[in-house]
Amino acid sequence: MEPARRDLAGPRESAILSALIEQAYRQLPIALVVSLINALILTGVLWGGIRKTTLLIWLACLVSVTAFRFLNLRAFSNPQRRGRVEDAVWRRNFVAGACAAGIVWGGAGIALFHPTSFTHQVFLAFVLGGMVAGGVPLLSPLNRAYPCFAIPIVLPITFSMLVLGDRVHVIMGLMILVFGIAMLSSYARVQRLFREATDMRLRLASSLAEGSALQEMLRLDELTRIGNRRCFEEQLGSEWKRADRNRGTLAVISADVDYFKAYNDRYGHPAGDRCLVGVAQAMASALQRPGDAAARIGGEEFAFVLPQTTVLGAEKVAERIRKAVWDLNLPHESSPIAERVTVSLGVASSDHASVASPADLIRASDAALYEAKRKGRNQVATVAP
Ligand code: GH3
Ligand code: MG
Ligand code: MG
Repeated sequence: MEPARRDLAGPRESAILSALIEQAYRQLPIALVVSLINALILTGVLWGGIRKTTLLIWLACLVSVTAFRFLNLRAFSNPQRRGRVEDAVWRRNFVAGACAAGIVWGGAGIALFHPTSFTHQVFLAFVLGGMVAGGVPLLSPLNRAYPCFAIPIVLPITFSMLVLGDRVHVIMGLMILVFGIAMLSSYARVQRLFREATDMRLRLASSLAEGSALQEMLRLDELTRIGNRRCFEEQLGSEWKRADRNRGTLAVISADVDYFKAYNDRYGHPAGDRCLVGVAQAMASALQRPGDAAARIGGEEFAFVLPQTTVLGAEKVAERIRKAVWDLNLPHESSPIAERVTVSLGVASSDHASVASPADLIRASDAALYEAKRKGRNQVATVAP
């Protein structure tokens, strides 16, 4: 039971981790810039108050850590390297960078703590508090990065304050400690929020993808893989509205395989199915404009929607479709009109006076198809205006 559940959780967990890593690295530039600027300000303010060598060594440490984090960020931003290296490594490097920065900043709490100047001490505490507070949103996406950063900062400065022993310093030390604990508990909440938001975003994206795949499937004819009746009706409805808005014309072609019952009787139903697949593909590939749509709307019946097409244009397309099926040259020995499979087609367009709705358009193209059948099949007909 247990391993199966872990397997199911696996892909989701790793997708969440991947998204959280992405988010953490996206925020890293801000963290690096702020860290560097604060370090320069701190060095400037303490210049003359603290030994210059100490200050410069500390600054060099911070610049080195920032450079390491920057190089890691640059490697992450390179899609090829990002793909080659496992997420666990990116996460480890990120946490290591945060931890190293925390140690260097924490070091300032002892090395840069002025022995006597209260102003300098308060300024240092203020800068370190700012780093601890600012780290919450920037480092929370990834588990452990924030505590690794904040704890090494809070403890040394607290220690420096407490060790002085007088009332004000002890209170300040305790306040820094309480502040640090508050920030850590806030981090725990922010981290949960990041996780939940990411999980929800991924779930939403995958259910949207599933939904649109399902929607696509519902519009597809299972046998021939071209559109089905539903697809045809939706297409006709939306193209009708568009033509109405733009005062354009819309044409429909109805098509029907000739003597198909005889084909089934002669070659069998499975061969009939294969024939329909071939006919459908040939018909669909006879369409040239991107907006044109082909659908199988019944057994051996097909329909086409041709936006912005007049009767004359649609007649040409219908003739191309007829010829495409003819050129397939599928043997049909039981057909009284040809030795191969043929189709009849009826054309109608919205510029016809009697057409006032999509239903009229279908009726008109069906009437034209009936006419093509009546006149001997394997041909295109149009209802006379
Ligand atoms: P017409 O030239 O007048 O169109 O004659 P027809 O025989 O093609 O027309 P009819 O409507 O009499 O028969 C249609 C036949 O199409 C009935 C059935 O055998 C066949 N048919 C319908 N759907 C399918 C299908 O999905 N697969 C196969 N193999 N045959 C089908
Ligand atoms: Mg039919
Ligand atoms: Mg037929």
